[in-house]
Amino acid sequence: MPRTITIAGNWKMNKTATEAAELAKGIVQNVGRQTEVSVVVCPPFTALQTVAGEIANSSVRLGAQNVSDKPSGAYTGEVSVAMLRDLHVTHVILGHSERREYYGETDAIVNRKTLVALENALIPIVCVGETLAQREAGEEFAVIGRQIRDGLAGISPAQFEKVIIAYEPVWAIGTGKTATPAQAQDVHAFIRKELAALQGAEQARKTRILYGGSMKPDNAAALLSEADIDGGLIGGAALKVADFTALVEAGRAAAASKA
Ligand code: PEP
Repeated sequence: MPRTITIAGNWKMNKTATEAAELAKGIVQNVGRQTEVSVVVCPPFTALQTVAGEIANSSVRLGAQNVSDKPSGAYTGEVSVAMLRDLHVTHVILGHSERREYYGETDAIVNRKTLVALENALIPIVCVGETLAQREAGEEFAVIGRQIRDGLAGISPAQFEKVIIAYEPVWAIGTGKTATPAQAQDVHAFIRKELAALQGAEQARKTRILYGGSMKPDNAAALLSEADIDGGLIGGAALKVADFTALVEAGRAAAASKA
């Protein structure tokens, strides 16, 4: 069974609920019926409910960009898994480099959030990736290996079936610089090897590993044709209906050629 190509849009801190409804409507219109590619949109918390309404009865799924590692209580400003589930959220992005860099998220925090998500039937999209300085120092594999081992510790084999990984080289996020398909494939193959060491080769073979970092309509086909690249986590290009549609179409073409 080939892995299902997944195209996930990370809208970051963009779009009011009103604007988000427009974007979701356009995405549903263009790709909300197809089922070859798993399409996920991740608006800000404030737009989840509105977008849930727009994508109801379509094949588009709803993701959040973060979740608390606590179940409920006196944690001002936090959002729990139960709150997300209640809004029909199915996926959650965890350990994005912006959360690691600006909000001090460590691998231990990413691990706690990943476990909480899995215990509550949310699919975690766990982000890993090296900075430019780390790549220039030749440390990318050491850094990513540690993020994988520490971020994914203690997950049962049954839970692991749900995990999605996103490789996002920090130097390629929002910069217009994309890893070459060969650079990305090298890291994806390495990640699959690390997953095999953690969970066995069979499970590693089934796990989706997305690429993120300035993926755009004009470079998606080449990236998605690589053997270990199973989709994309998209920032900037997820904010325009036409671009996001083109990325899903590139995903459908890749799915057909990998079938
Ligand atoms: C992201 O932040 O997840 C991302 C990949 O952003 P961009 O596509 O804008 O580089």
